[in-house]
Amino acid sequence: MTIDYNKLKVKVDLNKITSNYGMLNGITGNAIPVVKSDAYGHGLIPVANALSKIGAHTMAVGTVEEAVKLRRAPYSGRIISLLGPVEQEDYYTLQNESIIPFTFTFQQLEKLNDVGRKTGSKVKIALKFDTGMARLGFSRKDLPELIARLEKYENLSVELVCSHLAVADDPDQEDFVIEQAGIFKYIVDALRGAGLSFEASLANTAALLAYPDLRFDLQRPGISLYGGNPFTGTAWEHLGENVQQAMEVSTPVIQVHDLPRGKSISYGRTFTAQKDMRVAIIGVGYADAYSRGLSGRGSMLLHGCRVPIVGRVCMQMTAVDVTELENVAPGDAVYLLGGESENAITADELAGWWGTISYEVFCLLGLNPREYVN
Ligand SMILES: *Cc1c(COP(=O)(O)O)cnc(C)c1O
Repeated sequence: MTIDYNKLKVKVDLNKITSNYGMLNGITGNAIPVVKSDAYGHGLIPVANALSKIGAHTMAVGTVEEAVKLRRAPYSGRIISLLGPVEQEDYYTLQNESIIPFTFTFQQLEKLNDVGRKTGSKVKIALKFDTGMARLGFSRKDLPELIARLEKYENLSVELVCSHLAVADDPDQEDFVIEQAGIFKYIVDALRGAGLSFEASLANTAALLAYPDLRFDLQRPGISLYGGNPFTGTAWEHLGENVQQAMEVSTPVIQVHDLPRGKSISYGRTFTAQKDMRVAIIGVGYADAYSRGLSGRGSMLLHGCRVPIVGRVCMQMTAVDVTELENVAPGDAVYLLGGESENAITADELAGWWGTISYEVFCLLGLNPREYVN
């Protein structure tokens, strides 16, 4: 799905993504890039191809459909589906395409074992445990039944055992991270004690960077690959600062005009000029996934300067104050994200004005037409 009715340009620098991955993987040598949701809006196939070229042998996506797309890239490494099989056809697709699904219900186990039996093969799975996120997963108390079933199901091969942390990015909630990790360790030990052999994985970006003890066998960084810092605004901000933002978004100025003192602008007349002003009307709005919540809050970058949004963001247009700038003209590029100067807009800053996190900024703006630098 791509938005195809606008002037926005999303520029993705693949070198920054590979360089971020090199840095992250350099910590342990066992980092699995998370490229779900179209690589957080950066484009699954171009990102996966770039990461594959520098040696990423395993990647994680969301749905089985995404996994198939990645397989067709073509990518011959291990592919993990974080959402696992949902519909009936997913079960055979997984086996045909050698995709390792997160598996978190007894019904899934049974169906996957059936697929293995019928195709005369072993189905590789990743067991997913809930250790406190309360989203997907078997729980610790499922262990006895799980172990009994795994002994019975001869066509399953447990490759990975995983869980996901809820607050690894929040220095004030270390206790909960330790609690989740304790439960995960108990589960891993119990399964190994039952004779299973697999790789264990708990860490997202935040845990990879902040909790050396929780790295286990494989780590699953996502946001940091794209240059987002999960610790922004916390005491641990410095831990995530070494990554480079790969996405830049620009769009042209459509018209420039005066806004005399006392005149209001845009729907709802929420802004009235307190002095004689000049405004530029920019070709971006909420239909381009640039939130209406940025009305009167955000800024853009024009000629290397920050220009604040005035009045409401419309469907395809937004006004900015250019009173302080000379020679702004239709066609000039305006940056909503990134930009070539020390005033470049970071995803975290934009997220702050927007009332969200960098993850959502990337996923949403990434829906617009993209081009690649590499
Ligand atoms: C998205 C996701 C990740 C990556 O998390 P980041 O905070 O982006 O590093 C890791 N594991 C699972 C299960 C995920 O869903």
